[in-house]
Amino acid sequence: MIYPWQLDDWTRLQGLRAHWPHALLFHGQAGIGKLHFAQHLAQGLLCEDPTGNGERCGSCVACNWFAQGNHPDYRALLPELLAGELALASAASSDEKVETDDGKKTRAPSKEIKIEQVRALLDFCGVGAHRGGARVVLVYPAEALNAAAANALLKTLEEPPAGVVFLLVSARMDRLLPTIISRCRLWPMPTPSAERARAWLAQQGVAEPGTLLAETGGAPLAAQALAADPNRPLRDFTLKQLAAGAQCDAFACAEALQKLPVPVVLGWLQRWLYDVLAQRTADRPRYFPAAARELTQCARQIDANAFARYLKTVTRERAVENHPLNARLVFEALFLGYRALFV
Ligand SMILES: [Zn+2]
Repeated sequence: MIYPWQLDDWTRLQGLRAHWPHALLFHGQAGIGKLHFAQHLAQGLLCEDPTGNGERCGSCVACNWFAQGNHPDYRALLPELLAGELALASAASSDEKVETDDGKKTRAPSKEIKIEQVRALLDFCGVGAHRGGARVVLVYPAEALNAAAANALLKTLEEPPAGVVFLLVSARMDRLLPTIISRCRLWPMPTPSAERARAWLAQQGVAEPGTLLAETGGAPLAAQALAADPNRPLRDFTLKQLAAGAQCDAFACAEALQKLPVPVVLGWLQRWLYDVLAQRTADRPRYFPAAARELTQCARQIDANAFARYLKTVTRERAVENHPLNARLVFEALFLGYRALFV
């Protein structure tokens, strides 16, 4: 089933059935269930006995293949890193050794969708459907397409093969080629109201849904993941250090956090900084309302100009966050910079 806040979108989408677009781009905030929605749609399109509302039947041969991840008319283009995590059929199986664009063998699973994966798709598009129905290609997340792969996919979208439906999913439209966006029918996906999201989380047995939702900008699946996040103790440690202002121990932070992915820690830092600013200007933190007192103290002590410069530094780091930098050194520099704001 899709999530309750997606029901309207499902119904409106079925209105397109008569003239189904060859490419749909589902976009919206991270953590609201876009991928799940697109997968559900893919299964509905492939099902050989769908309900009147386009829902899969769940019992035909196509539905069974889909559930097992081996429907011959379905491909999912995912970064290698995700292919292992998600039970999805993929053109390149996750344990296959994929060559990078410059020909080197990589060991660590890639975070990018590579041109080899798109090329493999051309074979898929070249032959007819095994079951005589639609063929479906899911691209997730679309912003993971590297430059070469994006250009190759663009060529396919410019001359769409008959009978193939592309479903692209993205939380970062700003990172997509404008030419790819222009080839897709855009479909904005909704973030549920705070009330609805809280109720859903409570139903899933998640404690303190309000606090978690504040921290994830209202995205319920992100809040659910946060509740189960094994890194939470480290996150709490980091927030404590940030709250300490001039007493922030940059070296202890770097030591404790060095094993974590840089984007995770940058995310915590960015949200904290946002809240310092929100506290200072509007007296209302967005992500960490429980830390309002500490945020007020920090906001009082910092110099506005130095803060603006520091924000730029953090934004720059964010732009290169996926590069294999030495995490410990990155964190050391960032937390030293943070502490200097209070001197
Ligand atoms: Zn079915």
